[in-house]
Amino acid sequence: MIETAVYDTKPYDREYLGKAAGAERIAWRFHEFRLSSETAAAAKDAQAVCIFVNDHADRECLKTLASLGVKLIALRCAGFNNIDLAAAQEIGLAAVRVPAYSPHAVAEHTVGLLLTLNRKIHQAYNRVRELNFSLSGLVGFDIFGKTVGIIGTGKIGRIAAQIFRGFGAAVVAYDPFPSHDWATANGIQYVELDTLLAASDIISLHVPLLAETRHLINTQSLARMKPGVFIINTSRGKLIDTRALIAALKARHVGGVALDVYEEEEGVFFEDLSGQVLMDDELSHLLVFPNVLITAHQAFLTHEALSEIARVTILNILAQETNEPFLKGTTL
Ligand code: NAD
Repeated sequence: MIETAVYDTKPYDREYLGKAAGAERIAWRFHEFRLSSETAAAAKDAQAVCIFVNDHADRECLKTLASLGVKLIALRCAGFNNIDLAAAQEIGLAAVRVPAYSPHAVAEHTVGLLLTLNRKIHQAYNRVRELNFSLSGLVGFDIFGKTVGIIGTGKIGRIAAQIFRGFGAAVVAYDPFPSHDWATANGIQYVELDTLLAASDIISLHVPLLAETRHLINTQSLARMKPGVFIINTSRGKLIDTRALIAALKARHVGGVALDVYEEEEGVFFEDLSGQVLMDDELSHLLVFPNVLITAHQAFLTHEALSEIARVTILNILAQETNEPFLKGTTL
């Protein structure tokens, strides 16, 4: 049996990791708390550690894990901004991720958020349940004929772009590594970032969090956008400078914001804090705008995605144990 410490475990993690093929060869140690240098000790005698987006695998934490006998860090997510890869390499810890569990899940949630926000479906749902059948204040706009700007045309951005094309929207895209054949085949035009910001009625972020993409949406980039622009972020919270976004919302420059990720989501998203006092003033502020819609990092949460995350994670844990190569494209 391969001892594996799973951090930040939720019921759906237990369910999908527990029932995937090969799971019976792994002795799962499910922890509800997140990984950090303080909690690394809970991985004592484990060969593998399995973490998610808000776990913190910094240098100190990785050193502790290695000293406890851990050989592999398996991220059950695509983004890997929360692990110090240089430190992992130095220390000799292998690290793998699940690069594409379901780009459709995230792209579909992106579009779902926009439709909900724009057509005010969340408000209508609550109204009708209160027997308020009035339509006042529920006016939205057609996506057909609008210009959608996709920033980052990797796996998720490309699917989102194609869905928006299906609505009859014009799609412009920015990516430092453009996929010209894909763009031509789908009637999508690559433009410079400034052009995209100025031309788009709807802007959707699909870039990883890197030093150069941190606060990509800031006071300057917001000022370049069209008045009334809708912004959707299902990528990483730190792509947006929240203070600048709140200022642009208060100035009514931004027409709507849909977020599945938030700059300071750690310790808040994924948790049931109902009945508690929310200590984050910026999140509190965002929550009271009628034109802001927030989901708590659930874009990935489909049956298909959870099954694929479990499948890839388990195969990599088994591969490490038997000294076989990790699945293609999963090594960090
Ligand atoms: P990907 O690696 O396939 O694509 C990322 C794209 O961004 C690439 O084409 C890359 O060239 C481009 N890029 C890099 N730097 C850029 C920049 N400065 N400006 C514009 N484009 C840039 O990644 P993906 O699978 O499409 O995922 C995108 C992001 O979505 C992930 O990094 C992750 O943070 C996020 N994500 C969120 C969820 C969720 O549940 N909300 C789930 C999965 C992934």
